[in-house]
Amino acid sequence: MNEIFLLKLGEIVLKGANKKAFENKLCTNVSRRMRPFGAFKVSILQSTVYVEPENETCDLDGAWDACHTIFGAVSICRCRPCEKDLDAIFAAIQAYLGDDLAAAKSFKVESKRSDKRFPLNSIQISQEIGGRLAEAYPEVAVDVHDPDYTVYVEVRDFAAYVHGPAEPGAGGLPTGVGGRAGVLLSGGIDSPVAGYMIAKRGVELEAIHFFSYPYTSERAKEKVLELARRMTRYCGRMTVNVVGFTEIQEAIRDHCPEEYFTIIMRRFMMRIAERIALDHGCGCLVTGENLGQVASQTMEAMAVTHAVVHIPVFHPLIGMDKEEIVRIARRIDTLETSILPYEDCCTVFTPKHPKTKPKLGAVEEVESRLEVEALIERALQNTELVKVRYHG
Ligand code: ATP
Ligand code: MG
Repeated sequence: MNEIFLLKLGEIVLKGANKKAFENKLCTNVSRRMRPFGAFKVSILQSTVYVEPENETCDLDGAWDACHTIFGAVSICRCRPCEKDLDAIFAAIQAYLGDDLAAAKSFKVESKRSDKRFPLNSIQISQEIGGRLAEAYPEVAVDVHDPDYTVYVEVRDFAAYVHGPAEPGAGGLPTGVGGRAGVLLSGGIDSPVAGYMIAKRGVELEAIHFFSYPYTSERAKEKVLELARRMTRYCGRMTVNVVGFTEIQEAIRDHCPEEYFTIIMRRFMMRIAERIALDHGCGCLVTGENLGQVASQTMEAMAVTHAVVHIPVFHPLIGMDKEEIVRIARRIDTLETSILPYEDCCTVFTPKHPKTKPKLGAVEEVESRLEVEALIERALQNTELVKVRYHG
């Protein structure tokens, strides 16, 4: 075995009594995520997940890519295991990291000895190995303060491991330790990011999308499914509940004053989303709302919209600037799909002058002209379930 991955746990180590359950969940998640790439042995020891390929046919690069999207690991590294012996460690560094080291201007060695039976302590290991490397690579300067490249040596229970700088992991908590959430997923930039942020707290997602055919096209629906698919890289497989919303939007258009269209439409969305969420064991709803972004996202409008639901509604983007949201969307690879120019049902029958400070009483009065319950029932019956999983 020439190369294995070490995934270092983040907050999980702090979680006291839950620690064991969290670690087990992380191991299960890692095993599942490695499956498409061949046979891997996944185990956990001293707050580190070991991912070891079991044969030569494993797709290491594919598996390594996937490691970047597993919640629960703060840092990840590819490394070479070797005997717990200075000669073996030195040889492993030369063979495995020699090219990177030779290309650097300066280096240092950082060591960690968790196996206290090993005769040298961490500082002594670094000094010994650093001295040998300085001789072997005379053109690379030693710089312990601000090195261009750092060689890491970890002497652990069953072997020693050498590696270069670790990469950041996905952070957060392992998927599945934090319950389930229903995310209202539009085709925009915000809601996939909002879903990702809640998923990062260990929460599984059930997606809900409102679809107004023929006002919004099949391609708009495909776009949302593609967004969901991209999100599954991080949050695991999910189901998208595609709710037929046309009848509701037409009823609002036909019976309500124009300035109330959006707020009433959003109240329907929230009510339906809550029912779907409860049906699927979700304890909260998630939206991509952002304070002040549009007329329906003032405090007053949000109060009226959220007055119809009884479970918590989280909006993780509420205080973020658009640039921050876009940056995350780019990093999690949803941006490109979000900016495809297909319309969302929110842009159908948009009022020219929406009420930015609606009053609950007035909204309820207008809404009472509609057969709210019957409309909701029919929309729920007219819901298509689409399971999505990552495909590439
Ligand atoms: P986004 O970029 O997520 O579309 P937005 O800034 O366009 O958000 P709105 O259109 O006001 O804002 O929507 C606010 C939130 O309502 C969205 O983030 C999403 O959670 C939800 N939402 C909007 N349209 C839909 C839809 N067609 N299906 C499901 N949820 C929706
Ligand atoms: Mg939108």
